[in-house]
Amino acid sequence: MKLRELGVKFTTYQKLNYPENLGKRTKFGGDPEWIQNDQTPICPKCKNKMVFVSQIDSFDYNGYPTEEAEYIFGDVGMIYVFFCFECLETESVFQCY
Ligand SMILES: [Zn+2]
Repeated sequence: MKLRELGVKFTTYQKLNYPENLGKRTKFGGDPEWIQNDQTPICPKCKNKMVFVSQIDSFDYNGYPTEEAEYIFGDVGMIYVFFCFECLETESVFQCY
């Protein structure tokens, strides 16, 4: 499976309220907006908390999943990406409703 290729346009992040924010929560930096509990990973090498880099929101969502909607992670979930700047390790976490 290969997802269609898309570019990213950077803007100032504006937090929106649920459910208007579904599909619009992708961001870099700041704090992760956890759907469930905080699952910040620990670096497997240095055992320090990893740095939040980005969260990638499900999109293509129009109230229900369709066949064209490729970027739906689970039940309109989110992928969180973390990095350890010391050890150059990366981890990701997935959560949904
Ligand atoms: Zn580390």
